[in-house]
This record gives sequence, C-alpha cells and structure tokens, in this order.
Amino acid sequence: MKLLTVGSVAFDAIETPFGKTDKIVGGAGTFISLAASFFLPEQGIISVVGEDFPKEDLAEMEAKGIDLAGLQIKLGEKTFFWSGKYHNDMNSRDTLITELNVLGTFDPTVPEAYQGAPYLMLGNLSPEVQRTVIERLTVRPKLIAMDTMNFWMDIALDELKKTMKLIDVLIINDEEARQLSNTYSLVKAAALIQDMGPKIVIIKKGEHGALLFHGSQMFFAPALPLEDVFDPTGAGDTFAGGFMGYIASSDDYSFENMKRAIIVGSALASFCVEKFGTARLKEINKEDLNQRINQFVQLAHFQMMEL
Ligand code: AMP
Repeated sequence: MKLLTVGSVAFDAIETPFGKTDKIVGGAGTFISLAASFFLPEQGIISVVGEDFPKEDLAEMEAKGIDLAGLQIKLGEKTFFWSGKYHNDMNSRDTLITELNVLGTFDPTVPEAYQGAPYLMLGNLSPEVQRTVIERLTVRPKLIAMDTMNFWMDIALDELKKTMKLIDVLIINDEEARQLSNTYSLVKAAALIQDMGPKIVIIKKGEHGALLFHGSQMFFAPALPLEDVFDPTGAGDTFAGGFMGYIASSDDYSFENMKRAIIVGSALASFCVEKFGTARLKEINKEDLNQRINQFVQLAHFQMMEL
C-alpha cells in the first residue's frame, strides 16, 4: 500500500448561487482518496463514520481500490455533518453547521496492513488526531503531507505547531498562510512556515492557482480559467489527493516531480468544482484528465524572442 489518507468522511449540505443540496457524501478524506484513486490501484483510508452512512457509498470507494480496514463504523452514532453557503464570488463561504458527531471522539486506528506505507496524507482534522496517526505508525513514511485550516489555528495553535514539526509538506490556502505566519507577503509567509517544520509549503490561491516552495526553490501553477464554477467544496482536498496520489504512484518527491504533481492536482480540482460534491470526479476518466492537463500546459506555455 503506497498511500494512507487520514480525513473526514462526511455528509455535506451545500448552498451556492446555482443551487442547493440536501445531505450528500463529502468529507476531506473522501475527496482526497477519490482523487488519488486516479493513480493508485489500492490505498488506505483512516477515518470514522456513523451507522447512517450509506453502504453503497462505501462499496463504491472499495471498488475504486480504497481499502476500508482503517474506516471505523460506529453503530448507533451519526456521521460528521458540515453545511456551508457560498457567496456570489464563490471565493468566500460561510460554515453554517458543523456537527462533529463521530469525529468528536475519533481515536484513529492503523490496521497492520497499512504499516510501512511510504506516503501519508493528513487531511484537515484536529492536529492532535493527525499527530496520533503519525505516532501510531511503526515506520515513518518517506513523505508526510498535511492540510489544515484557520479553524485549528484559532482553537488549537499550539497543537498544530507540534504536529507541523513532524511533517514534510504543508498544503494551505493564502489566507491561512498569512494567519499562521502573521505576514502578508506569501514569500515571507512560506519561509516562516518552513521554519516551523515543513520544508515544502504549498499555498493554494483558489482561482488564482498555487505556489510551491521547496526549500529555496519556487514554482507557480495557474488555475484553469473555467466558464462555470458550480461548487468549490472539496477542491482543496481534491488538489491534495491528486498531488499525493501522483507522487506516491511515481515514488518521486523531487522538486521537478512536485511541479508535475501540482499541475495534476490543479487539473483534478478544476473538474471537482464543475458539479456538486464528488459527482464530477466520479464521471471522468484518465483520458479526460490527460486532456485537461494538456490545457494547463498550453495555458502557461510561450516562446520568448530575444529583445
Ligand atoms: P474544502 O472545500 O477542500 O475546504 O473541504 C470541504 C470538506 O471538508 C467538506 O466535504 C467537509 O465535509 C469537510 N470539513 C469541513 N469542516 C471540517 C472539519 N472541521 N473537520 C473535518 N472535515 C471538515
């Protein structure tokens, strides 16, 4: 097993200017592992759901090679529920409801078969739970990536800083990078975050692309300008899942390969936003993905004449 993901498997209810859903399946762990499944025939997920989580959705995950031995099902309990509403520009959203339910008491277990996995993706969860998983692995993975959010910076900054010391790659958005470093310039923010632990920092800028800071090297990937953005939920997780799925399958975390992984993650995220929840990611295949990656390559490619 090349990749382990830790992250929420959830119900979401989403409202955008284009429509509204009842409870649909979402969660950071769901988006990450679904995105990574484009590159990996098998992978593991460490998470928890309640008895109310649909068996068909679990079966769909298994069919995509996502092993569920690390996914606990709590009888008589309810799955994590999140509800959010997007504004007209789609860049900002309000969280309307967070019901932790089974996540409130989540004690992650690492099945024996997952031990020795070389790549670990810690999806957005409490930094204590993220650290517990690292501590329960008998062999340190080659590369540990982590996502987090301002929510944890507000209520658990010390815990977050402890966990950050143990990881290699931090994936956050621009606003979160500024909050964590207390600095406006993203170049300075990345350097300050590198001093906190992760030597590789990826800063997502939504529809304005993503920046990769790898030691002292830097790379910028654009986001594809899309005609319609329907629902941005899970785009960040899809980006992270595509990035780590690609790195794990190629078993190469050099700067050059991380550039490719960022484009792959961005291409998958550009599909994610085209429909509600995971719907679009479930429709597309490798061929669709390759075509979109080509669009990314064309978007930023040009030849310069000598002046
Ligand atoms: P993103 O749009 O990439 O920020 O991720 C959205 C997903 O994160 C949704 O599917 C939610 O279920 C999940 N989510 C939201 N808040 C939390 C939280 N506090 N802990 C874990 N997962 C969350």
